[in-house]
Amino acid sequence: MPEPSDTPTTPHVETTAITAGRGASGDSLSPVLFPSTTYTVDTVAEQAAMVSTPRPQKLYSRFGSPTVRELEDAVAALEGAEAGLASASGMASVTAVVLGLCSKGDHVVATRQIFSVTYALLAMHLPRFGIDVTLVDGTDADAIAAAVIPRRTQLVLVETPANPALTLVDIDAVAAIAGPITVVDSTFATPVVQRPLEHGVDLVLHSATKGIAGHNDALIGVVAGNADLIDPIWAWQSAMGAQASPFDAWNAIRGIRTLPTRVRQQSESALQLATFLEEHPAVERISYPYLPSHPQHDLARRQMSTGGTVVAIEVAGGTAGATRFVERCRLARIALSLGGPETLLTHPGTFGARFTPAERAELGITDGLVRISVGLEHPDDIQADLAQALDG
Ligand SMILES: *Cc1c(COP(=O)(O)O)cnc(C)c1O
Repeated sequence: MPEPSDTPTTPHVETTAITAGRGASGDSLSPVLFPSTTYTVDTVAEQAAMVSTPRPQKLYSRFGSPTVRELEDAVAALEGAEAGLASASGMASVTAVVLGLCSKGDHVVATRQIFSVTYALLAMHLPRFGIDVTLVDGTDADAIAAAVIPRRTQLVLVETPANPALTLVDIDAVAAIAGPITVVDSTFATPVVQRPLEHGVDLVLHSATKGIAGHNDALIGVVAGNADLIDPIWAWQSAMGAQASPFDAWNAIRGIRTLPTRVRQQSESALQLATFLEEHPAVERISYPYLPSHPQHDLARRQMSTGGTVVAIEVAGGTAGATRFVERCRLARIALSLGGPETLLTHPGTFGARFTPAERAELGITDGLVRISVGLEHPDDIQADLAQALDG
């Protein structure tokens, strides 16, 4: 049956990225920055109403602010969520979710292929609060479900694509776990590549510092889902004082306008580079979800609309080989972070030096591993740079 002509079609992500999150800016095309920490009212009743409402926008900026709300609304629209909450960083979002939703005696299941600071929170800090954590292999969906303890597991936290080697977690399988609140750290994908809430998980979170803001000028995190989960996370975040800064939110909204276009180009370049690197004799192993050689390639095709903007390689020669490679690159630079316009190289072995060998093994940090965050330079120029560094 043809659709009735007055039914609005669901806009594409490119369109939502342009139209979303404009609630506070009036007729200003560019987002308006509200740096104010507080707002005046004419009556005490007005203030009383705001005090009793979660996530008020104009009470006091630790509780929320108009610029931050624009970003939260934009990410919620992109993820298909009822509500969003922005935080001072990606780690502030992770911490607000875990501590806002879990109490002493609760149990958390998480994937061990996970951002190293999230690992530190889970493995080193949560036990101090009486919250037990079980880490499982994220590529084994049955193991994730099997680790859930009925009535004790409060949260299942997975990251996909995951640090450091771009392994994937089956989002449908996580969504099918009954009981605990399910959370996906979707930082590496952005809402352009995958939308976990559409699979049925409860919450999606991002280090928006990375692809969403996308210009290496905003440290910010965001979590999105139903308001009945976002509100208690917000209450805890207000106690921690870990709210997002309006300035960083302002930069992140600017980034969102070009997010789909950036991610599409960076993904196309990443696939070109991955295809090139796979054939290079100095590359021992490569991981890119849209290469047929990725062990979870079928899953990647199912839940991701591109292979993403990051490529992981194992350079021959271990730490020495990886160090030599990254230091010989000229266009691609050595730096932490990903998702920005510049191609960046990270050697997880260097960053992971603070972990014991057993912890490094658990996290999958190998000596020759190099993470390439593919930027917006012309892919042929990036390829030439990586080639001269590997060949030399
Ligand atoms: C960077 C990152 C984080 C932490 O985000 P910050 O903004 O640096 O605090 C969390 N998860 C993933 C997957 C990340 O890449």
